[in-house]
Amino acid sequence: MPGDREILRTEGLWKRYGEITAVADMNLRVYEREVFSFLGPNGAGKSTTVGMILGLVRPTHGRALVLGHDMATHPWPTLKRVGAVIETPAFYPYLSGYENLRTLALMLRDIPPGRIDEMLELVGLRERGRDAYKHYSLGMKQRLGIASTLLRNPDLVILDEPTNGLDPAGTREVRELIPRLAEQGHAIFLCSHLLHEVQAVSDRVAIVKKGRVVSQGTVEELLGRGQYLRLRADDMPGLLRALDAVPWVTGAEAVDGYVRAAVPVARAAELNGILAQQRILLSELSPWETELEDVFLELTGAEAVA
Ligand code: ADP
Repeated sequence: MPGDREILRTEGLWKRYGEITAVADMNLRVYEREVFSFLGPNGAGKSTTVGMILGLVRPTHGRALVLGHDMATHPWPTLKRVGAVIETPAFYPYLSGYENLRTLALMLRDIPPGRIDEMLELVGLRERGRDAYKHYSLGMKQRLGIASTLLRNPDLVILDEPTNGLDPAGTREVRELIPRLAEQGHAIFLCSHLLHEVQAVSDRVAIVKKGRVVSQGTVEELLGRGQYLRLRADDMPGLLRALDAVPWVTGAEAVDGYVRAAVPVARAAELNGILAQQRILLSELSPWETELEDVFLELTGAEAVA
């Protein structure tokens, strides 16, 4: 369950490159113990936003605050609290996963003994921790990368397209790991252009298009789950007219041979009674199930992605 402690906040964040507006008025909040997904097609402004969160890209306006600190002016103490897995870090191929983490821990200092084994356990590499890195699959390499950024126990973990280039097995391994990271207390900021990557693991999702958040909420909220009914009758124009006359039906439209009506599912029987009185007999009445993919494509106008 997400906590109350705010880890990341962006306030009216903008970035312009000459004529190009890469990020426009971005206002985000990310809390401890949550997976917050930043979902949008390529070129939507995700990397630029991450750059501003990390203090690497200077905002044109607004601020990115991590733990209340402005990353443009005071990045150094706070950067220690952020772990970013932007791409697979360079590891020594002939050393084992354990030895690679140990080398890193020696450089970072202050890493408690036992932390390396804990992290290997968390990312599912405990049993393979003594094998040479060069024998790891791509998914294992990526998971070791995630373990390496967790060594310092950061409050915020940024995962930028974490399954890029992975095979289906590797993708599944990384995807299963993401909610476990949030359970450990970290706030996870997951950037992706892949719906399937975020749908199952996110507490909240912001859909971004051309630098702007076009919709944000829980997956349930984005799907409008439980808020729409799917109806069919022989007399479809009559059905639409009848729905129009019911004051608490806030919208109804014909979609793919059905009527999609904005009606809470709990009022389905009541609606059916009203329609029957007007001799509109329904042949089908069910909750309208939406795929996040449809919402995403509608909001972003993006092409379907694998
Ligand atoms: P995403 O990560 O969602 O693919 P980006 O943040 O990389 O999107 O890019 C957003 C927009 O900003 C794109 O139109 C991109 O071409 C532009 N952009 C990004 N970085 C620069 C830069 N350094 N100079 C000029 N334009 C840039």
